[in-house]
Amino acid sequence: MGKPTGFKEFERKTEPYRDALDRLVDFKEIYTEHQEEHLSTQGARCMDCGVPFCQSSNGCPVYNLIPEWNDLIYKNRWREALDRLHKTNNFPEFTGRVCPAPCEGSCVLGIHEPPVTIKNIECAIVDKGFDEGWVLANPPKKRTNKKVAIVGSGPTGLAAAAQLNCEGHNVTVHERDDRIGGLLMYGIPNMKLDKSIVDRRVKILMEEGISFLTNSDVGGSGPNSLSFKNLLESNDCILLATGATVPRDLEIPGRQGEGVHFAMDFLLRNTKSLLDSELTDRQYIDARGKKVIVIGGGDTGTDCIGTSLRHNCDSLVNFEIAPRPPVERADHNPWPTWPIIFRVDYGHEEATARYGKDPRTYSISGKEFVRDDSGKLLGIKTIDVDQEFNEIPGTDRFWEADLIFLSMGFLGPEQYVFEDLDLALDQRSNYRAEYGCFQTSHEKIFAAGDCRRGQSLVVRAIDEGRQVAEKIHAFLQN
Ligand SMILES: Cc1cc2nc3c(=O)[nH]c(=O)nc-3n(C[C@H](O)[C@H](O)[C@H](O)COP(=O)(O)OP(=O)(O)OC[C@H]3O[C@@H](n4cnc5c(N)ncnc54)[C@H](O)[C@@H]3O)c2cc1C
Ligand code: SF4
Repeated sequence: MGKPTGFKEFERKTEPYRDALDRLVDFKEIYTEHQEEHLSTQGARCMDCGVPFCQSSNGCPVYNLIPEWNDLIYKNRWREALDRLHKTNNFPEFTGRVCPAPCEGSCVLGIHEPPVTIKNIECAIVDKGFDEGWVLANPPKKRTNKKVAIVGSGPTGLAAAAQLNCEGHNVTVHERDDRIGGLLMYGIPNMKLDKSIVDRRVKILMEEGISFLTNSDVGGSGPNSLSFKNLLESNDCILLATGATVPRDLEIPGRQGEGVHFAMDFLLRNTKSLLDSELTDRQYIDARGKKVIVIGGGDTGTDCIGTSLRHNCDSLVNFEIAPRPPVERADHNPWPTWPIIFRVDYGHEEATARYGKDPRTYSISGKEFVRDDSGKLLGIKTIDVDQEFNEIPGTDRFWEADLIFLSMGFLGPEQYVFEDLDLALDQRSNYRAEYGCFQTSHEKIFAAGDCRRGQSLVVRAIDEGRQVAEKIHAFLQN
């Protein structure tokens, strides 16, 4: 423990974001520069508990060695802290930016005091590592004669590729998009995770010997697509890391026609246009001057809010079907479980700064998209709902809108991917592959990440990527 009395002496202070109105004029990251001295002090708040819940299964899904690096940065031993961090997490520069930090929800200090700023510290350690040139490619000394194909280049595929390559196996990652990274590249927007941070890590993985094929749609029908049969014949094993990419629809009257889009169409096209042309090619859905409604909360909804605001939308409303969460933990949600409480994410803060009020409306459900005779979207009719989502009579409302984004979750992997394979699915239409084993109903095919567990978190994807790699390595050795 860096300083035994640190938790008594110092208050929790997270690193601030850039000013909400200032950051709305660009797509640059929302974060401010790390202050090393400040973070050393924050690290000193760690109590080095006998049982560190932050690194248990309730806390960090990759079991990061949190008290160890808190201690090391307090003692100014950043290089060693980086080595500790990389032992459990292949990509701390991603989680340090986008993880909701379940570790902080289960920090023991959090029972009575605000928890340690674990996520800020993680990010600062790895960012310093890159700045100092400490993060370098480390190719394996020896190669095996085994070939593994990974389908999908999100955090699951990348973590599995890194681990299997480390064992000396020959890994090729197939990605149907034109850039590597999955939702790290084309889901989470630039202001939350700058795409140069993703490219920088992919470059290192390439230098370590992993092959990446973009525009390679496995099981698809495009010009660069590959069949699963070919892939199975030419590899010892396949890992499906294709994500949960089927969006949940809102099938109410008026759904068909312009103006209503899935959130991912909006976010993907915006990032692609930003990277291809700084948004000059106009190949994106433009929210400028539009009345925008985002249906659904979560990270995806927040990202639609942040992106619409940066386009300079005219107004913005966000619907949540669930009631507003409490400010403090409810009795049925005790420490060390993830606190289900009211949070203000970056997009909510920005909307409040621009329009003077939080954009969220709770306990509300869409009834009909309203259009004029020519099919133009005019808005949406809604009704309020109770805790069990039953409609409350007499609470009908009409909301004007030119653009509506649907951000209501995802329903598993896309069908064409498994059509040829006859793989078993679970009840939620994800690949059936038990956690910890990861083998599908086909002996040579493994599945991990969102396509196995449903849409989740980057840190869980990294965890599944690391774990499935262990199982594939054992399979290849047998
Ligand atoms: C908008 C949005 C914002 C999010 N924000 C956060 C956040 O802030 N923090 C957080 O922790 N989590 C966030 N998440 C969740 C997180 O991004 C995912 O849980 C994580 O990326 C899942 O990783 P994955 O590798 O399993 O799948 P993905 O990242 O979805 O990657 C799957 C990849 O497989 C490719 N693919 C699919 N089929 C084929 C095929 N047939 N051939 C070749 N390639 C194929 C896809 O193109 C994709 O690139 C967010 C999700 C969304 C949608
Ligand atoms: S990866 Fe997430 S849960 Fe783990 S230490 Fe980092 S912020 Fe916490």
